[in-house]
Amino acid sequence: MAVEFYRHALREEDVQAVVAVLRSTFLTTGPQCREVEARLAGYLGVPHVLTMTSCTAALEVALRAFGVGPGDEVIVPAFTFVATATAVLHAGATPVLADVDADTGCLGAAGVVRALSPRTRCVIPVHLYGQMADLDAIRAVLGSRPVRILEDAAHCVEGTYRGVRPGQASDAAAFSFYATKNLTCGEGGALALRDPDLAGRARRLRQHGMTASAAERYQGTKGYRHWDVVDLGVKANLPDVLAALLVHQIPRLDGQRVRREALARRYEAAIDALPGWGRPHVRAEACSAYHLATAWAPRGHRDAALAALAAREIGVAVNWRALPQLTWVREALRADPADFPVACELGDRTLSLPLWPDLADAQQDEVVAALHDVARGLPRA
Ligand SMILES: *Cc1c(COP(=O)(O)O)cnc(C)c1O
Repeated sequence: MAVEFYRHALREEDVQAVVAVLRSTFLTTGPQCREVEARLAGYLGVPHVLTMTSCTAALEVALRAFGVGPGDEVIVPAFTFVATATAVLHAGATPVLADVDADTGCLGAAGVVRALSPRTRCVIPVHLYGQMADLDAIRAVLGSRPVRILEDAAHCVEGTYRGVRPGQASDAAAFSFYATKNLTCGEGGALALRDPDLAGRARRLRQHGMTASAAERYQGTKGYRHWDVVDLGVKANLPDVLAALLVHQIPRLDGQRVRREALARRYEAAIDALPGWGRPHVRAEACSAYHLATAWAPRGHRDAALAALAAREIGVAVNWRALPQLTWVREALRADPADFPVACELGDRTLSLPLWPDLADAQQDEVVAALHDVARGLPRA
């Protein structure tokens, strides 16, 4: 591969942090998780953060903490990773797909209005590619309805919208530390919440509904104290071995975001020079986390462009085909692609280019040259 799609930006201090955990007593949830939770809470400006094994688990735990379950509907954008919808099903509720805005690919007020019903209990906006959805606009159309907002912030730890961060203006925000995400420990996630009661409930739900974690049982008590189970929980607590990888990455995030933005803007200019191509737009009010660099190929030519880029040894991916374009989702949710024209057009046209903080200018030159070469070789749009 001439230019890989993704390389992580782990440093020696991250490796040493893991080694230190391996030499300590606590392998599972303990002091490293607490440190990550404190650092993320400080970074986000949200009082409660709970580390989890994945963003998918964090979404499910949040829904269960809200009391959203059987008979309840949850609005999910039709253009997202499948986990946004499956987490709703795992919580026992019904995902209702909504089409997205054409300029950003994010869920907007119009999509929410069309998907709303008297059974709607929650909306899950996705901060697509690092750009936050407009939560104010979504909140405005929900009015006084008892509907929670749960942010799928898998792409966006670092971003803001009108100066507001994920978790600051909603009921909860779920983050992913999956292998290719901006902040990563291979597999992991977190949930940020403002309400202390909801946070307490989510903390129990993350670990079997137990009233005390292993670390709490181990520390602070001389004699043995019984724990109780007061909820039907899941098993989603992050081990300290993985949490240690995150601790020192958090202070490096803002510097890496600056590099990501510089790379992303250069791609944007390159894409804008190609007739028939498009891309998502970052609004003036948004500071994006620039998780992915996205190009929309001319209609009908995405797969040819993917193959041609891969043949030039450029790492590419598709994030994603839209949910109604996936067999199981189409069948299980009876989702007709014709009802989600924007999501399905993006699903047909999108491709992702290499974007990672250590990507060198010369490597990006290669990608841009290959992209222009490939675009010239496609039949005219
Ligand atoms: C990666 C991703 C998830 C799932 O994250 P996991 O940590 O792998 O569970 C959910 N939503 C979106 C938008 C994602 O990109």
